[in-house]
Amino acid sequence: MQTRFIPAYDTEKAGDCLRACRRIVEAHQRFNVPATFFIVGKRLEDEGSEYRSLLGDCPLFEIASHTYSHRILREHPWGPPAVGGAERIREVTLGKDTVEQVFGRPCFGIRPGYSFVDGLHGDPELVDAVASAGLRYVSSTAWGPDYSLPAPLAGPTTYEAEGHPDLWELPAHGWHDNVLKGYTFADGPRRLILWPMSFPGAIPIGPIQTPDEEFAINRQFIDGAVTLGLSYVSLIWHPWSLGRFDSSMRMLALTFQYVRDIGMDFATYADEWSRRVGAGG
Ligand SMILES: [Zn+2]
Repeated sequence: MQTRFIPAYDTEKAGDCLRACRRIVEAHQRFNVPATFFIVGKRLEDEGSEYRSLLGDCPLFEIASHTYSHRILREHPWGPPAVGGAERIREVTLGKDTVEQVFGRPCFGIRPGYSFVDGLHGDPELVDAVASAGLRYVSSTAWGPDYSLPAPLAGPTTYEAEGHPDLWELPAHGWHDNVLKGYTFADGPRRLILWPMSFPGAIPIGPIQTPDEEFAINRQFIDGAVTLGLSYVSLIWHPWSLGRFDSSMRMLALTFQYVRDIGMDFATYADEWSRRVGAGG
């Protein structure tokens, strides 16, 4: 199975994400490259018409959910306290409903705020809620062992053990770009890197300063995924952070050009889910 590159964006901050998405969309259209935008429901309540006109009619883009209001669905050592009961079910169902209402098309996937080491594995109540909402895939694995970074090059799994063999987990890989740049956790937890390191070439000595440095790190994960024969590789990008670092989106241009130069195809998460189902797992 050829490795594909999935550009994806956790779209969550008022104002800043929408502004950055305008530049991101320009880069995607210039390269004719698809993307998945995981969008927080509340952002769509406030800025839905802008997002709809920016992303809604372009066939390159999948719109998925980043929960309703970015509340945390499971305990996370670096995050705020998790919500439980009806509140966390609402984060799932209302997040999906808001995407569908604003964009007028089905929402197949969800990525929870912060994500986790093992995705939703071991939490059958939450997996039930996701499956009952009609979601087809979850992208909720984005950390290494002991909540370290970068996230490993892990392949898809199903939630069969939780009773939902048709629900897929599609992990994300590498750094969270906002952490790599020192924007998040600058004054918080610093215990993020494991020793021995899985990806020594992808651990800078401090927050990165340039889009070229970011691209050089991206390459490690892209090349690694190809070497491992993964079906896809997808980095963890946040529009607000990309825009704050370099509004010209040079990192995206370098990454898209590289992916194209080495002969990889691009895809969305929904494309990957279709491939999983078509392959019968
Ligand atoms: Zn988020």
